[in-house]
Amino acid sequence: MKIIVDDFVPANTGWGHSMEEGQILRIRAKTIVDFACINLHNLNERFDQARTKVYNMKIWISTGDQLFSKLNNPMMTIIEDQFSGQGYHDLQYGSCSGPRYARAKEEGRLNQYHHGDDIPIPDHGCWENLIDGFSEWQIPPELIPSPLNIFQHVNIDVKSGQINHSPNRPIDPIYVDLQAEMDLAVAASACPDLAAPEFGQPIQATIFER
Ligand SMILES: [Zn+2]
Repeated sequence: MKIIVDDFVPANTGWGHSMEEGQILRIRAKTIVDFACINLHNLNERFDQARTKVYNMKIWISTGDQLFSKLNNPMMTIIEDQFSGQGYHDLQYGSCSGPRYARAKEEGRLNQYHHGDDIPIPDHGCWENLIDGFSEWQIPPELIPSPLNIFQHVNIDVKSGQINHSPNRPIDPIYVDLQAEMDLAVAASACPDLAAPEFGQPIQATIFER
């Protein structure tokens, strides 16, 4: 295994790097990681939640499934998923953010994160962290893709369509491996994860070749 980069990413910060086709990204964490990718040679071709759900014909993706772009191309393949059997990765939510947390507080909805009504709210979240992660490529804030939310297990009521935060997270850090199907700019956010049992935690991002 040839390690290209192996980075520690502190809680509630962003990380980004370029990847060559065939290289593998390993995301290791025990809390939510918002993840997105962009075609390195066409920054207008970005990861797309809806295309990904349609091409895989499901709302949960795992080993063998692919991440798709708005231009209908496979961008990455999940080749290993240690969360399988314990929980799912979310493709419904966008990213958390400073404004999102402020609004939840305003609306009296902080108890939906399972830690009560008066938890401190961060002034930024995954949206701002992904902007940082993609800063080398200067992706405008409004064009940051809605992410694959790794380790964000949500409960969906199929009758009402209501999506509820769940505290289901890996007990210890585990990983998901994603293989690049094209040259990419990738970015990840160590989510402040207000619904996790111990809130947001640092993550590890490793790019390697077999
Ligand atoms: Zn987040």
